[in-house]
Amino acid sequence: MDLTELHHTLTEKPPDYTRLDGPAALDGLRTVLRLRTVLDHHAVTLVSMLDRLHVADRQGRSLRELLIVAGCAPAVASRLIRVAASLDLAPRLAAHLADGVVSIEHADAVMRGIVHIGTRRREPLDDESRQRYVTDLVAQVFSGATPAEVAARARTLGNLEADDSAAGVPAGEDRSVDRLDVSVTADGRVAIVGDVDAVIGAKLASAVDALSAPRPQPDGSPDARSATRRRAEALEQVLDAAAMAAESGVLQGMPKYQTVMTMSADPATEAVPDGARLGWVGSVTAATARMLSCDGVLTPIVVDDGGVPLHMGRDKRLFPAHLRKALMVRDGGVCIKCGAPGSWAHAHHIKHWVDGGDTSLDNGCLLCPACHDDVHHHGWQVFLGADRHPWLIPPATVDARRRPLPAYNRRTMRLSDTELAAA
Ligand SMILES: [Zn+2]
Ligand SMILES: [Zn+2]
Repeated sequence: MDLTELHHTLTEKPPDYTRLDGPAALDGLRTVLRLRTVLDHHAVTLVSMLDRLHVADRQGRSLRELLIVAGCAPAVASRLIRVAASLDLAPRLAAHLADGVVSIEHADAVMRGIVHIGTRRREPLDDESRQRYVTDLVAQVFSGATPAEVAARARTLGNLEADDSAAGVPAGEDRSVDRLDVSVTADGRVAIVGDVDAVIGAKLASAVDALSAPRPQPDGSPDARSATRRRAEALEQVLDAAAMAAESGVLQGMPKYQTVMTMSADPATEAVPDGARLGWVGSVTAATARMLSCDGVLTPIVVDDGGVPLHMGRDKRLFPAHLRKALMVRDGGVCIKCGAPGSWAHAHHIKHWVDGGDTSLDNGCLLCPACHDDVHHHGWQVFLGADRHPWLIPPATVDARRRPLPAYNRRTMRLSDTELAAA
């Protein structure tokens, strides 16, 4: 049968679904899903053909790029290629896909499971045991398992393989299956998905646990951050600490890494308007760009509208060690807002360096990453009082009267002192 004809029939004379009752609609959906699976099988077969005929090679592209250009989403292209490459090894699974009874997502999970089991033993899987595992995993599919549940079953089978083989590494300690994926999501956030062995996991958990304890707010109210947010911010502290240790030469042989941020500026004035871009993540707001360029481990580069660097802000921007020490002394060695240890803190520019603020004791203060975020994004303000100490002004949502608050190390001052010093 001609597929073009089928396409024509479906688009020109679509069935009228509007008059169906519930059970009939569900039946209709089942048929459509089965048809979709059958078509997925056609796609898999055609991808194998494209591969065999070296069509992508001739165009100077990878097969994946070819599929993406043809209209596949990246994840779909990767899945088609994986299934096309592995389906020959499992003829019975291929037949289920062709009949439309096992979806391509499930078939992919089964074949990935087989690859996983193979990695858990010393010798490659022989034909007989491969078919046994395919049968086992397909049985899971028929009993209603999701692709994630198929993957979990494959991990169990992999563990049994590891126990039997001379290699015998328990799953929890097997580095060969470790993975960590960091990918930018459609809304410009970054998804981190990992599956690591017990040793890496224990290091991560203990570092994050130690750094994610709740800290009370300036007024004594409990830390408003959720536990998950505190863990995310603890991870940032671990990364910042590693970058700083590498930068200072404490970690011998550790490559120095810099997260680069570019900001476009008017070449005449070198004033930085919006349009900052962060590393490989992409666009960030001007408020975030300012926060990131306050201090620390990130290299901001100001570029003209052609993307040519105008100057590196680093030398005049960062607080040198002696000034950091002075900040530690003046601010009592803690974040001025919440009292978190100063060794975690960023040195914040009270008047931003982009706006002509200098890097000096009177223009700096210590803020932990969370409080630094509050200052740049959530309406908290910092100013230098007549007493040459930093003061905080809460946003109206926190204190309707926006009364100035002294730095954390000076909160024992009496109210009359407070009014004098903040004047
Ligand atoms: Zn803080
Ligand atoms: Zn700042």
